[in-house]
Order: sequence, then C-alpha cells, then structure tokens
Amino acid sequence: MTIVETALYKAKAGERINFDEALTLYQSEDILELARTARSIKERKSGLQVFFNVNRHINLTNVCVSGCPLCAFGCKAEQQQAFTLELEDVRSIIQDTVRQTADLTEIHMVSALHPDKPFSYYLDIVKTVKELLPSVHLKAFTPVEIVHFADIASLSIHQVLEQLKAAGLDSLPGGGAEILDDEVRKIICPKKATTQQWIEVITTAHKLGIPTNATMLYGHIETVEQRIRHLFTLRDIQDQTGGFQAFVAFPFHPDNTDFGHLTRVSSWEDLKMIALARIILDNVDHIKAFWMMLTLPIAQVALAFGVDDLDGTVVEEKIIHAAGAKTNKGITKAEIISLVQETGYIPVERDTFYRPLTRIGGM
Ligand code: SF4
Repeated sequence: MTIVETALYKAKAGERINFDEALTLYQSEDILELARTARSIKERKSGLQVFFNVNRHINLTNVCVSGCPLCAFGCKAEQQQAFTLELEDVRSIIQDTVRQTADLTEIHMVSALHPDKPFSYYLDIVKTVKELLPSVHLKAFTPVEIVHFADIASLSIHQVLEQLKAAGLDSLPGGGAEILDDEVRKIICPKKATTQQWIEVITTAHKLGIPTNATMLYGHIETVEQRIRHLFTLRDIQDQTGGFQAFVAFPFHPDNTDFGHLTRVSSWEDLKMIALARIILDNVDHIKAFWMMLTLPIAQVALAFGVDDLDGTVVEEKIIHAAGAKTNKGITKAEIISLVQETGYIPVERDTFYRPLTRIGGM
C-alpha cells in the first residue's frame, strides 16, 4: 500500500495517523477520497446529524493595544470606527436580542484588548449577561483576552479564569490560536499571547471545568507543515484534557490587514483543510464550519468533507467582515435548517454542549 492508502485505511478503521501520513494526505490530489474518509469519520461520530445553534455575537470593543498585522478589526481609540460598549449598551443589546430571538441559547462574546478598561469591567459584563439571561450559555473571551486580563489585573491565568467562572462564564470560544508556532506569531501577531500562553489558558480552563473550542487561522504566511503541527498540538492537548468541544478552521481574509497583498486561499483548500482536520483530530467530537467565513454554499459542501456543525445564527458579526468577508452578518434558523436538509443530512438544534433541543425532519 502507498502512504496515502495506508493513512486512509487507518483513518477509516478509526486508527490514529502520524505526521508524515497527514502531510502525504495533504499533498495527495485525490480530494474526493479525502472527503469520503472524513465523511465516514463524521458519520461514525454523529451519524446523519448536523448541529446548529441559535446564538448572538457581541463584540465589546474594537479598541486594541496589540495592533496585530493580521487584524482588520482592532484600531486605536481616536480612529473613526472605534467603539466600546458600556454596561448599559450590553444590557440594551441583550434586551433587544431577547425580544427578537425567542430561541436564543448562547451569547458568543469576543473583543479587542482595550487599553483602559479594568478587569472589573469584564466581570461586571459577565454578571450582567447572566443576570438578564440566567439560562443562556455565555461563551466569551479568547485565550488572548484572558492573558490580557491577567496582565492588567496582575493575576495568574488560573485566578482570572476562576473569577470569570464565579461571575458566570460558561465556556471559552478558543480563538486567537492562529498558528501555534512562535515563528509565525512573531510576524502576524507579535504582541499577543504566545503559543505557550495560549496553551496554558486552554489547559487551565479545561482543568477548571471550562470547556473550549479549538481553532486555527490558516492561509497567511504559514507552511503546510506548520498547519499540520498545529493540528497535532491540539490533538495532544485533547489527549491530556478532553476539554475541546469542537474544532473550527478559519481561512484568513487579507483585506484591510497588513497582508492585503495576499490572496485568500481557494475553497478547494478550505475543504481539504476541513477534511484533514476531521481525519487528524480523532479525539475531537465535532468539526464546525463557520458559514460566514466560508460562504453558505461552501459551508453546505463542507458537510460532505466531515463537518457536523454549522455554528449559529450569529445575528451581527463584525470581526471577519472587517477583513472583507462578503457573507451576511446573520442568518435565520429556517435558513440553516433548509441548508442542511438540502444535503440529505438531519438538522439538529443543539445547546452549547451539543445536547439536542429539537429534532427537525425525524431520523
Ligand atoms: S487580532 Fe485581536 S489582539 Fe490583535 S489587533 Fe486584532 S483585536 Fe487586537
């Protein structure tokens, strides 16, 4: 058997593949065989179900001390597009959301690293969200933000997470991982959390019983080897902690960043990375496609490449759209349901822990 055949055979049989096998799979031209294998793993893990949830994204601020070259969202306080929400703003967004979205089960909140807001501001926001929505799951703050809070409050990462959890934080979205390689990070985001710090936040959160997602931002300056090593790092963490709920890969959108000369990777590349992630991350239950990054048609095709989760309705996304994403800023539950049904899979509305809420279409 060739290395590709061996790797595909092992993956289909539920065996773990190694780095060289993963690299050879990436280099293989047979993307449909890759898809078939990833799909068989997806169907072994979650059958014909494809999950989604009804969520609302909130960004507290885009004012940032970090100035990452890869970012189109962060800005300085004096720039025209700068905004920062106060407690009352968050309160009224939540009240509006509740009025408009009866089925809301999750608030997803990530932000820039504000130069002046103290840690108590974030604790107050968490308490306010939970006071207004006690039964809604609060998924908030990337590991990069957690490291920032530890710096501004002179606390350990453990203490920051403990205090946020006590205030009502339920899980972390796991963003800011980009590529877990400091040589890459020095160029794309030199001032934000290092690889080691990102891993420390994630493993500490998992130890404290705070689940997270795992992410990857690809398609900028990284090599394919660095992408695959990133996936193996995530697999190693999951072996130790079991705290990742899902993996999501974000293709880099270069518009309005310092890498505006780069071209966004092709949809082919997106689908290949999704399938490869499904094959490598044998210990992560769910592979999520962020429809707003991929576009709705490619997110739908991604269901044939191992994806079992289309994330949520979102309502209003700002970060990816600042970098030129042309997708809608939110979609309805009915749209997600028909997107899944068109593929023959069964849409399942879930809560953040992948517990089914309603079964649509029967099984
Ligand atoms: S990527 Fe995050 S930390 Fe970096 S500039 Fe943008 S908002 Fe700030």
